[in-house]
Amino acid sequence: MTHFVWILCIIMIFMQGGFARLFYEIKHILDSKPDAMLLNAGDDFQGTYWFTLLKDKVMSKFINMLPNDAHTLGNHEFDDGVAGLVPYLEALRDPVLVANIDTSLEPTLNGLYKPHVVLERKGRKIAIIGVTTPDTKMLSNPEGVRFLDPAPIVKKEAQLLTDQGVDIIIVLSHCGLYVDKAMAKTVGENVDIIVGGHTHSLLWNGTAPSHEVVAGTYPEYEEADNKPGHKVLVVTASAFSKYLGYIGVDFDGNGDIVSFEAQPVFLNRSIPEDPEIKEALKPYMEKINEIVKEVVGNTSEDLSLNACSYGECALGDIIVDSFLDKAKQKNPTNSTSFSYIMKKMIRTDIKKGDITTGDIMNVQPFASVIWSYKIQGKYVKEALEESTRRSDLQASMPQVAGLKLTINTTSKEITVLVKKGDEWIPLEDDEEYQFTTPKYIKQQFEPLNANAKDISLVGIDFEIVKDYVKKITPINPLLDGRLTVIS
Ligand SMILES: [Zn+2]
Repeated sequence: MTHFVWILCIIMIFMQGGFARLFYEIKHILDSKPDAMLLNAGDDFQGTYWFTLLKDKVMSKFINMLPNDAHTLGNHEFDDGVAGLVPYLEALRDPVLVANIDTSLEPTLNGLYKPHVVLERKGRKIAIIGVTTPDTKMLSNPEGVRFLDPAPIVKKEAQLLTDQGVDIIIVLSHCGLYVDKAMAKTVGENVDIIVGGHTHSLLWNGTAPSHEVVAGTYPEYEEADNKPGHKVLVVTASAFSKYLGYIGVDFDGNGDIVSFEAQPVFLNRSIPEDPEIKEALKPYMEKINEIVKEVVGNTSEDLSLNACSYGECALGDIIVDSFLDKAKQKNPTNSTSFSYIMKKMIRTDIKKGDITTGDIMNVQPFASVIWSYKIQGKYVKEALEESTRRSDLQASMPQVAGLKLTINTTSKEITVLVKKGDEWIPLEDDEEYQFTTPKYIKQQFEPLNANAKDISLVGIDFEIVKDYVKKITPINPLLDGRLTVIS
């Protein structure tokens, strides 16, 4: 006798609009397949208006409305540190699975997650093992949580479960498609299916419905090195609740895969929104609308994004000035301080007239964490040089505060001046400076990533910019010659 297991998978729940549609589709599928499992591959705390404005209490309320069988944690779940994660985990009703973390230095997390769970469907035991990406250390703010290499942990857990007689094993992973495929090969001998997230990869058979890049077939499958003939199915379903992962697998009496049928569900507008969820979201939508409509300043001229691709721009100046200003307020220092972002981190213009919170959130929509750290001049120069050597210089165009930067786009040479008293002098290789950037910038450039010291949190980008706009309004945009581009 064979046994069919249906698995639905969600990644990065996107509350606005999409959630009511996602909920409708899950309910609709469960009506005809009440045994289907619903797995959540993490990154529920992705920087959206919902999370940044309403935080974990609202997220857990809505996520608990879904009949999840298990969650794993994404890197974003650590964005507000351990203190931000604990109440979320306490509020989640269904098990949170992460086998590859060690929280002995963060005991408040103990008891709020486990390595695996064994579920039953029609009398068959099905195990789910959770793992998350060790890159969380760099990508987020997990404080004292240690991340272990997921592959040996999956091998050990799957062996343990196999020894207990569980012959259907699913890995719920937030490690990314490439790691998942590698694990299927190297440690997949006891694993049947890997359900993943993190890389936002779309696996799809044929042309993608909204013409996204397709990273492979749905499912991908890999043969386990240690068990020739044993194929592990690997699935993932893009991001932002745009797709619902959907796979049905027929297992024989030994837990071996006989056949499968699979294709993610594209959650487009042809799928209705669940009326009950829509109603439940309403008061939060209204609250968010109120927040985004608040007028926080005004500008006498358009603040154009396009100008930021070619040199200094008023919008870039305001953003980096705000980061530098907030960093100085939070951590007064005698060191020379400066700040830097790349043009591609600014997402739209601000039109002449009133500036609302929503306008600022559209300019800085990722809710990026801003860090301030100590670093020697040579590493700053290396990072700036690297950004100007990039082939996408217009997207990588630096916007700076506290620096005078000259870029020669032909020779790729740069000069960097810093302000000492009233004078502009060259950046010294060995002097230690105070540098304020989005966390993303630090991680993008190895010289910064490897050498930054005494990192402290300045805040979330759009909140910092909003405070600064309030402080300097009315804005009469003027450039001050801090960036010169010679071509
Ligand atoms: Zn992720």
